Amino acid sequence: MDDKRAVISSHNHVLVFPLRVQGHINPMLQFSKRLASRGFRVTLITPTSSGNSMQMQEQEQDRSIKVETIYDGYNEGEKAATRDEFLDRMKATVPQSLAELIDKYRSTQWPVTCLIYDSLLPWLLDVAQSSGIHGAPFFTQSCAATVTYYHALHGSLKLPLEESSVVKLPSLPEMEFNDLPSFVQVPGSNPVIYDLVLNQLSNLDKAIWLLWNTFDALEDEVVNWISSKWPIKTIGPTIPSMFLDKRLEDDKDYSLSLFKPKSEACVKWLDSKEPGSVVYVSFGSLASLGEDQMAELAWGLKRSNYSFLWVVRESEEKKLPSDFIEDTSDTSLIVTWSPQLQVLAHRSTGCFVTHCGWNSTLEALSLGVPMVAMPQWTDQPTNAKFVADVWRVGVRVNVGDNGVVTKEEIERCIREVMEEGRGNEIRQNSEKWKELARKAVDEGGSSDKNIDEFLEELSSSVG
Ligand code: UDP
Repeated sequence: MDDKRAVISSHNHVLVFPLRVQGHINPMLQFSKRLASRGFRVTLITPTSSGNSMQMQEQEQDRSIKVETIYDGYNEGEKAATRDEFLDRMKATVPQSLAELIDKYRSTQWPVTCLIYDSLLPWLLDVAQSSGIHGAPFFTQSCAATVTYYHALHGSLKLPLEESSVVKLPSLPEMEFNDLPSFVQVPGSNPVIYDLVLNQLSNLDKAIWLLWNTFDALEDEVVNWISSKWPIKTIGPTIPSMFLDKRLEDDKDYSLSLFKPKSEACVKWLDSKEPGSVVYVSFGSLASLGEDQMAELAWGLKRSNYSFLWVVRESEEKKLPSDFIEDTSDTSLIVTWSPQLQVLAHRSTGCFVTHCGWNSTLEALSLGVPMVAMPQWTDQPTNAKFVADVWRVGVRVNVGDNGVVTKEEIERCIREVMEEGRGNEIRQNSEKWKELARKAVDEGGSSDKNIDEFLEELSSSVG
C-alpha cells in the first residue's frame, strides 16, 4: 500500500450491508475486499435470518474483512411467509440492531465512519445519518435499467405501455417493449419488487456518493446522465483481480455463497475439454424455468452437439426430462451450483447461455466470454438488449408466441455464437470489452480512481 493510501485508511471503518441474495452478496463482498486491500477496516453485515447459510467458509485469520450478524426479525431456522413480510420485518428491526452495532464500535479504536448499503434498502441511509455516520447506496444493477426505473417513477415513461411501444429515453438506445425491465413492461406483475426497485431512487438527493458496479466505458452515456443528477462513482467490475490476469498482492480468495459449488468436478471436467469447446449454461440463483422451457432448453443443448456444463439448482432438478440425463451423460455435466468465475475464466468455455443477471453479464463480459442471452425477468431483458445490440458480445434468443424458446432456436443461437461468421465478430467484441473492463480496474483506471476518490473524500470528511 502506498503512503497516501495508508494515510486515508488509518481511521476508517466501513460497514457493508447487502441484501441476502447471491447477486448482491457477491459484488458487495468483492468491493469490501478492495476497500480492505487499501487498508480500510471493513465489516460485512449478515442477518440472523440467514443462519448457517451465510457463513464464510474461511477462517477469520485468512480473511481481510470481519463479519457481524445482526437481528433482522428472524431467528435461525425461522422462515418468512412472504417476501413482503420479510422486508417489512427487516425494516422494523434492522434500524435498531444496526444503530446498536454502530454504537458498540463508537468507543473503540475503530468507530464506524460509513455504511455502504444495498440500494434496494434505501431506508438504511436514514439509519446511518441518524447515527451520525455517512451512508452510500451500492447498486448491483446496470445504470441503464435504473434509468428506466427513474422514468417510471417520475412519470416521464407513461405506464402501462402497449406491447407495440418503442421507447426513447435520454441516454439510452431506442428500446422495444421487450427490452425494458419486466416490472416496467408490466408493473402489476410483481408489485412488491416493483416498489422495491422504484423506491431505491426515492432519497438519493440525500446521498453524497452512489457506488455502482459498472464501469464508465461500458455505460458511458447513461453514467453521464446519472452523474448530472447524483454523485455516482462507478467502481466495477468487482471481479477478483486473479480472474483478470493480474492478481493483486492482497486480493484474498474467499467467498460467501448461499449454495455449495461443485468446484472440483467442474474444473476437472473442463480440463478434459478442448479450448473454446464448451457451452456453459446458468440462470443464476433465483430464476425458475417452466417445465416446457426446461425441456426445450435440454433438447436444444443436445441438438447443438457441443459439450455443455449446465447449472440446474436443486429446486429445478425435477423439471429435467427423465430420459435426458442418460442420453447426454457422456458429453455433459449437470451440477447444482458452479464456481462461475472459474468456469467463465476456463479456456475450455466457449460461450455462456445466460439469463443475463447483471453479475453474470458483467462477469462474462469482463472475462471475454460470448453470450446467448435468454432473459427471464427483472432487469434481465435490458441487460440482454445491451449484450446483443450495444456491446454486441452475444445474441438474444427469440421467444415463441407461447412464451417458450424452442429447442431449434436455442440450437441456432448456440451455433451462431460458437461457429465462424457472426461468431468471429462476437468473439472479437468480447476480447475488446474484456480489455476495457480490465483497464477500468487496473491502477489508474476509471473505477480504480473512483474507489480512491471515494476513500479520500470519506477520510477527509471524517477528519
Ligand atoms: N453464480 C455462481 N455459480 C452458479 C451460478 C451463479 O457462482 O452456478 C454466481 C454468479 O457468478 C453471480 C451470481 O451467482 O455472481 C448470480 O448473480 P446474477 O446477478 O447473475 O443473477 P441472479 O442470481 O441475481 O439472478
